[in-house]
Amino acid sequence: MCKIIRNAIQCKHCGETLESVNVHDYVTCSCGACSVDGGHDYLRRSYETSPKEDYIDLSEFMNIPPDTSDEVLRKIF
Ligand SMILES: [Zn+2]
Repeated sequence: MCKIIRNAIQCKHCGETLESVNVHDYVTCSCGACSVDGGHDYLRRSYETSPKEDYIDLSEFMNIPPDTSDEVLRKIF
């Protein structure tokens, strides 16, 4: 199981770092070229031209072994 622990991008146009901290947290940078959404549930990006040209992905993931107990998961998240 792969969990998202940080859902973030940096806009290449204005240099702003955007982070979506929960599933309904839709964040747009100050120049309006890029947006992030989805929090720790899924990664959604909006961009002007292409992911390569518009932003640097700063997202972080954690690999969780399938036998991890709920108690341990609650401590991590
Ligand atoms: Zn921007």
